[in-house]
Order: sequence, then C-alpha cells, then structure tokens
Amino acid sequence: MECEAERRPLGVFECQLCALTAPYSYVGQQPPGTQSVVLLEESYVMRGPFAPSKDRFLVLGSRCGLCGRLVCVGPECSLFYSKRFCLPCVRENIDAFPQEIQQDLEKRKVPSKRPASQPGSRT
Ligand SMILES: [Zn+2]
Ligand SMILES: [Zn+2]
Repeated sequence: MECEAERRPLGVFECQLCALTAPYSYVGQQPPGTQSVVLLEESYVMRGPFAPSKDRFLVLGSRCGLCGRLVCVGPECSLFYSKRFCLPCVRENIDAFPQEIQQDLEKRKVPSKRPASQPGSRT
C-alpha cells in the first residue's frame, strides 16, 4: 500500500488559454523519482495517472517567459524556444523568432475560437 499523502496533488494546473485543468503534483525541473530526467524549464508536472510506477509523469505546462501566464504545452497554447512562450506573446513578438518558428506558427493557425480571456478583475 502506498502512502496516500505522497500522491496528493499540490494543486490544480489551469491553462489560461484553453482552460485545460489537471491536478499537478510537482513544479520544477526534476520530477521526483526521475533521476535521469531534467526538464528544460520549470514545469507543472503530474504523475502518470494510470501508471503506478514512479518514473511516469506528464508535463502539463509552465509559465510564459514573457507575460508569466500559465499555459499548457499544447501546440495551440504555447511553444518552447529556449523557454516557454504562450502563443499570444509569440504572435506579438513574431519578428523576434526565427523563421522556422514563424512558419511553424502559420501551420498551427488556430480556428477562430476565442479563449476565455477578459481577466475579470485586475489589480
Ligand atoms: Zn492550453
Ligand atoms: Zn505570454
């Protein structure tokens, strides 16, 4: 029997672009129990929900290096180029990215579905 406390999630990760939510159990670059794995960025990580083995984990997302928004690693929400950038930031600063990124972004063209934006209250 495993200790239940150990599996308790730290909180719930929520992508601020697509509203994906999932409980995460670790934030950082080296998920526990994965000595050989070092992530390139500080990430929100969830233990593989279906795998009892400790070295299974799933990267949910991380913070945008520009605006600090929490975004998932989905291709419609962010990309990784030396660090994580949310797509809105990439679009705003597209000139700062190499052409291959620009082309890649072209291919991603998201259907005109509006993300639940409009931050309710800003302080
Ligand atoms: Zn997302
Ligand atoms: Zn951003």
